[in-house]
Amino acid sequence: EEDDISRSPENLSNFAVKFNNNSRLGESVDFVLRQKLRVWCRFSDTCWELGHVQSLSGQNAKILSNGKISTVAVESLLPANPDILDGTEDLINLSYLNEPSLLHSLKCRYTDDNIYTKAGPVLVAVNPFKKVHLYGNDFLEAYNHRRLGSPHTYAVADAAFSELMRDGVNQSIIISGESGAGKTETAKIAMQYLAALGGGSGIALKIMHTNPILEAFGNAKTSRNDNSSRFGKLFEMQFSMTGSLCGAKIQTFLLEKSRVVQHVKGERSYHIFYQLCAGASLDLKDKLNLKSSHEYDYLKQSDCLSISDVDDAQMFQMLMKAFDNVGICKEDQENAFAALAVVLWLGNVKFEVIDNENHVQVIPAEGVTTAAKLMGCEIDELMLALSTHTIQAGNDSIVQRLTLQQAIDTRDALAKSIYASLFEWLVEQVNISLEAGKRHTGRCINILDIFGFESFHNNSFEQFCINYTNERLQQHFIRHLFKLEQEEYTQDGIDWSNVDFIDNTECLNLFEKKPLGLLSLLDEESNFPKATDLTLAVKFQQHLSSNPCFKGEIDGAFKIRHYAGEVLYDTSRFLEKNRDPIYSDTVQLLQICSCKLFQSFASRMLNQSKPLTIPHWLNGTDSQKHSVGTKFKAQLFRLMQRLESTTPHFIRCIKPNSKQLPGMFENDIVLEQLRCCGVLEVVRISRSGYPTRFTHQHFAQRYGFLLLRDVDFLDPLSVSISILYQFHILPEMYQVGYTKLFFRSGQIVALENARKRTI
Ligand code: ADP
Ligand code: MG
Repeated sequence: EEDDISRSPENLSNFAVKFNNNSRLGESVDFVLRQKLRVWCRFSDTCWELGHVQSLSGQNAKILSNGKISTVAVESLLPANPDILDGTEDLINLSYLNEPSLLHSLKCRYTDDNIYTKAGPVLVAVNPFKKVHLYGNDFLEAYNHRRLGSPHTYAVADAAFSELMRDGVNQSIIISGESGAGKTETAKIAMQYLAALGGGSGIALKIMHTNPILEAFGNAKTSRNDNSSRFGKLFEMQFSMTGSLCGAKIQTFLLEKSRVVQHVKGERSYHIFYQLCAGASLDLKDKLNLKSSHEYDYLKQSDCLSISDVDDAQMFQMLMKAFDNVGICKEDQENAFAALAVVLWLGNVKFEVIDNENHVQVIPAEGVTTAAKLMGCEIDELMLALSTHTIQAGNDSIVQRLTLQQAIDTRDALAKSIYASLFEWLVEQVNISLEAGKRHTGRCINILDIFGFESFHNNSFEQFCINYTNERLQQHFIRHLFKLEQEEYTQDGIDWSNVDFIDNTECLNLFEKKPLGLLSLLDEESNFPKATDLTLAVKFQQHLSSNPCFKGEIDGAFKIRHYAGEVLYDTSRFLEKNRDPIYSDTVQLLQICSCKLFQSFASRMLNQSKPLTIPHWLNGTDSQKHSVGTKFKAQLFRLMQRLESTTPHFIRCIKPNSKQLPGMFENDIVLEQLRCCGVLEVVRISRSGYPTRFTHQHFAQRYGFLLLRDVDFLDPLSVSISILYQFHILPEMYQVGYTKLFFRSGQIVALENARKRTI
């Protein structure tokens, strides 16, 4: 029965409650009631209050809570843990693993600025949104020499490093969580530790200086995080045989390039644009004809040009320093700034309609002239490329004028692809300068900082890709946990068949199956010139409705049942985003620009092998390339392959409130995240297995004196078995291994209490 409960995701939220109501664990509730211990009284799904049982009558209990006595139905009660467990460093230590208990433990620790807690093999990090005294040299030293054993990102990094050195197996630190939860900060903290361990040499300094560069070009202010990374990244730290840091390599995923041309009110484009406008020297400003940020249409559209407590000009100075330290030469820096100015000036290019078919021409103004000059092409050429389209018909080429919307799309597509190419190029330059060269041994620790599961009011192609990624990572996570548990059981000769776990294969199949999966069908439809978002939705519905994770909805929407909950996607602009068309006239223009960097951008854009035809008004004869979905899937597969060959370490970042404020812990928000990032899953796995373990010796030593008969002559195993009989621990509640006893959760409380009463 409990398997059904835990398998169906919509019930996941309640599983702890239901789990505790089933007969097996119900025992412990009775026990708590009979013993008049602490309980949780449920007032709503996320509101639980701590109380003490005063008396019991039938299905009700009198509870003392907050100085008041009230009558509460027994079914609204859950056992609470003894208060000595309040600050426990590992949630798995809790005798009762229900939701209010987990939240209570995290909150108690958070209140004391203990932002880190373990959940079995996973480190949970709750964002403090303030400086906490947990970092710096003293702490680096302490974790290095193992004087400090309390949970910390440093401890995770240290474990990864030790295992790398001990086993020679590559490691990865997989950091996840929703936007603003602290992933990027955590990644930096792990890097800092490894950089310090690896010798603090020149390369370590270089590596740390890549952060301001990546953040300037890849981060932006959003409604949820003032410094939100708009790309995923895998940071590979490379070590020599003796453990000194010798190089690094960065791989990035899915940069959100639409932000360059469009973002909602209150958000910004990438930091670098504002930094450049605010911080460039007079000389540079002059060269790029740079104005202040409010003069650029791409930047001013959202009524948000600055971030409180952030000085963009000063950030620009820091960026320049980082460039120098990483070893990006002055010429490359200037080229990059010129490319940024081109993007900004393109955004100011305007069109005027010249006939009654809505055809346009470019208005010759500062935008187009400056952009052309910086790109190194003729103004007329740029104007033509932005307002016309050339079609090959046999040996002839026909030039057609674009309509207003087509021209705007062309301009925006050019700006976006210049920015995306610039980002790719920059990461390559950074990688070149971080290369380990001859000292490369293949030993590395990967740090993965990637977007977490997303479910908004409006979910589009971006969330589709992000959540697909998270399904893959979740599978990796679960398989690993499962493997860890299984290894320990098998080693000790325990029957493993009673342990069960949620499998998300069905959802992954929904995405990946060929030819009838979401990604394949999306590509097929992207190839039809006449397809629309609605025909796509119909196609999904036709072929996928038999998959239990899929549900078609009206108006071109569909639902996917993800491991973390159901998400409603809207197909509008799915096809366009998946096709991500190349506008060949503008690419051809880039090829003939005198600026070498722009030429290289053109080859970057074209350097993608074929077979998807794009937008219908380009007629299919044009440039072809792989779809975004397909490319992303391939990239994700390569990532997973790399992760599979390493020993993983998991860090789950949690955002305690949605206001980015310190000292505020909101139960509902935290609970939702514990569920989405698999922390509840860890707890669930432990619960469905045998989380409490004692060696026979330890168990006999600890509880042997409680035995009513003389046991002096018995071996530890026999003593243990006698204790189990005497306390009526049911046979399905434990297993006896070669070296250890394994208990289901909550079984030891009775023994502990008896022990306490006796001592
Ligand atoms: P994410 O990458 O998950 O979107 P960030 O790592 O950018 O989130 O964190 C968001 C903000 O939270 C940071 O800018 C910082 O102000 C704060 N923050 C995160 N982790 C810490 C930490 N360990 N100590 C102090 N502040 C933190
Ligand atoms: Mg981030």
